Amino acid sequence: MKTMSRLNVFACLVGVAVFGPGAGTSQAQNPPPADHPAVTVKGQTYTPRSILARNMGTPEDQTTQFPPHKVVGNIYYVGTKTLSSFLIVTPAGNILLDSTYERNVRTIEKSVTDLGFKFSDVKILLGNHAHGDHQEGDALVKQLTGAQVIVMAEDVPALQAMKPGGKEHPIDKIVHDGEAVTLGGTTLVAHLTAGHTSGCTTWTTTAQEGGRTYNVVFSCSLRAPATLTPAIVGEMNRSFKLVRTLPCDVQVGDHPAQYNMHEKYAKLQKGGPNPFIDPAGCTVEADIQEAMFKAVLAEQPQAARP
Ligand SMILES: [Zn+2]
Repeated sequence: MKTMSRLNVFACLVGVAVFGPGAGTSQAQNPPPADHPAVTVKGQTYTPRSILARNMGTPEDQTTQFPPHKVVGNIYYVGTKTLSSFLIVTPAGNILLDSTYERNVRTIEKSVTDLGFKFSDVKILLGNHAHGDHQEGDALVKQLTGAQVIVMAEDVPALQAMKPGGKEHPIDKIVHDGEAVTLGGTTLVAHLTAGHTSGCTTWTTTAQEGGRTYNVVFSCSLRAPATLTPAIVGEMNRSFKLVRTLPCDVQVGDHPAQYNMHEKYAKLQKGGPNPFIDPAGCTVEADIQEAMFKAVLAEQPQAARP
């Protein structure tokens, strides 16, 4: 963990300590995020603590399979109740975005199989950001599928420090802001949206459904660390600005709560238009996180000074 910034370690450990099963003794001593400041967006009030709780749910939620389902076009949800994982299916094999915790990899494999696809057809593994709840399982996915692991340059040190069971974190290829990953006619573009981690990556692609093409945004967490520094403030400001420029018809996030997946999935069961196609909902999560970021910054005015 030496190469991981102190703040990222803190953010990561807080999540594990409060909500993760098997949290180590030293991790468990970390306090939960503060219950202040509070911000209200669209009639809903949030605090840093409530946002983390919303994202992570209970330890059981983190490891319980959510019914795998199609999001749009060739994009499927294969994660748990509170940790997202997406399968992008192409004629040349499939892309998996986020392995989540290592203990969830077999659950993700089951979801892929339940949808009628083969886990061994995963040719590329991408990550959302270098926290254990999103990328701890990379080594096991690589072991089971032989997939090429492609990561964002700025998250490399944090990933190298992530060694479940002592396993080296696999890194086969490094991408930079704006670079693309293509497989079987599907292209995903990596956008650096740093702040939550140094290499937090928002992936974008397009998907076809019903004769139309939709812009899909796989958001990275915009949840600001508890303690802000001028560098992080700069990153967060850049990221909030950038995500609002991305063309978007379908927005999903690294935690289902970031796009109301449970609610949209319930709608999906009732039939009718695809509830995941929701351009108006694309920036709701950014609105919540930006309001929170500004409120946290107001409590730490020294961090605003470069
Ligand atoms: Zn995180």
